[in-house]
Amino acid sequence: MNIILLGAPGSGKGTMAQKLTVELDIPQISTGDIFRKNLKEETPLGLQIKDILNGGGLVPDEITIEIVKNRLAEPDCSKGYILDGFPRSIAQAEALDSFQHVDCAINLDVDKQTIVSRLSGRRFCPDCNGTFHISTLGNATVCPVCGGKLIVRKDDSEETVLERLRVYESTTLPLIEYYRNQRKLVTVDGTGGVEVVYRRILDVLHK
Ligand code: AMP
Repeated sequence: MNIILLGAPGSGKGTMAQKLTVELDIPQISTGDIFRKNLKEETPLGLQIKDILNGGGLVPDEITIEIVKNRLAEPDCSKGYILDGFPRSIAQAEALDSFQHVDCAINLDVDKQTIVSRLSGRRFCPDCNGTFHISTLGNATVCPVCGGKLIVRKDDSEETVLERLRVYESTTLPLIEYYRNQRKLVTVDGTGGVEVVYRRILDVLHK
């Protein structure tokens, strides 16, 4: 099954994709993770996109589409995949439709206030790509999964969060209509605990 996870930054796409990838035994393709890895390893791509990522803007469509197209052509995607963070614009969605068949777009619906509170309390593990929240971490500074040192993502600073939300509303939100028109959209209430939201997703997938 080829699944897209839609939703604002902080709506829980990454967390849900990580759980689904285990349950469905298909890979999670996160463009954000791919870009952050390039940034960390200071590859030519990483250097090219550094300012964009840190400023909360979007990497140009040509670059992003090419990366996703190549990644989805790898053998581990033949049984299906979960796209987390792609597409993020109509141009990306149209490109995806030209080389892949999308089965379902799950839109995680979360109000703005919850998003800002989630992102400002978010902690990230650069070693295992785990994302956590201070409400469950308490004072812990190391990753509860792999023991890596937790950080605040640069793009989770208040100013950048507001820019990411602005970009989401202007460029990514129209995708909801795009997939609704294709009758592939399923909207899931993304508020509440991780397990509650995950159960809602499994329920719609089973239908
Ligand atoms: P994420 O982890 O999905 O929030 O992505 C982190 C950052 O990577 C975003 O704020 C963008 O700068 C960039 N990015 C991720 N996915 C895309 C995409 N599909 N198109 C353009 N830029 C992206």
